[in-house]
Amino acid sequence: MIEIVILGSGGSIPTERRNHPAIAIRYEGWILLFDAGEDVQRQFEKAQLGLNKKMAIFVTHVHADHVLGLPGLLLRFSLLGRIKPLNIYGPKELIEYVKVSQSTINLGTTFETVVHAISPGEIFNQQDLTVRAFEVDHRGYALGYEIVWSRSTGKFLPEKAEELGIPKGAFWKALATGESIDLEDGRKVSPEEVTEPSPPPLKIVYSGDTKPCQELRKAANGADVLICESMYTSTHSALAEERGHSTAASVAELAKESGAKLLILTHYSPRYYEGEDIINEARSIFSNSILARDLMRIRLNKDGSAVIMNPQNQ
Ligand SMILES: [Zn+2]
Ligand SMILES: [Zn+2]
Repeated sequence: MIEIVILGSGGSIPTERRNHPAIAIRYEGWILLFDAGEDVQRQFEKAQLGLNKKMAIFVTHVHADHVLGLPGLLLRFSLLGRIKPLNIYGPKELIEYVKVSQSTINLGTTFETVVHAISPGEIFNQQDLTVRAFEVDHRGYALGYEIVWSRSTGKFLPEKAEELGIPKGAFWKALATGESIDLEDGRKVSPEEVTEPSPPPLKIVYSGDTKPCQELRKAANGADVLICESMYTSTHSALAEERGHSTAASVAELAKESGAKLLILTHYSPRYYEGEDIINEARSIFSNSILARDLMRIRLNKDGSAVIMNPQNQ
């Protein structure tokens, strides 16, 4: 099971109920954090995510609304005695940003912090979860992220192994965990021969800030959950174009074309208050759209079903 926790659904100016952008993904004891807008540390607390978990942070771009919360989060982790190392991935400017924060505001950390300047491609792999970065079309260098959960290999079938005359023990164990084996008689056996077919991977895509673009379209293809910024409605499409953002209509079109199953619209401007116009515009094009709310949780089950849990106060 994977759980997506919306920590901030706000635009560039946070409001009383909506924080700067930040999304956490919980998976097998890990927390993967995508963007760290201002006050993400308090959202961590409210969402009860824990401060000493195995964790990695992925930043889409270095605009203030996506990184202002990073020093605060590192400070909080340190004050509360985090010891587990922390890897941070994003554009190269992040290295300087974290270094300057550490040297000018006394931000020493109690744990090892490594900032990685990344290019598009696979950047993180843990068990059966992979994170891939792709370049998007915003102002300056900006990335989106594709999170693929391969759901491991299918169930091991002992009767098939017996049929093929594979000795029990280490060989069975290797095949059950997805490794190929070489038998003494020279035969090579792959796990697919003795396991149930594995289900297709599940995919979550986060756009970061961007205009609709080809790379996002490619990543979104067949996505189980597509999380897109939708700063404006089409009334303000000229502004969206000028500032390198998306409209609700444009991301809904993209979701429809790419065959996404669920679209979550986030990072919408406070001029739309609680986002009524945003969600109405999106749903008129792609009905399976929902509006992100701070502290909303979306559970993606192994069978591909998604369960949406709204925060109690909304
Ligand atoms: Zn931006
Ligand atoms: Zn932004």
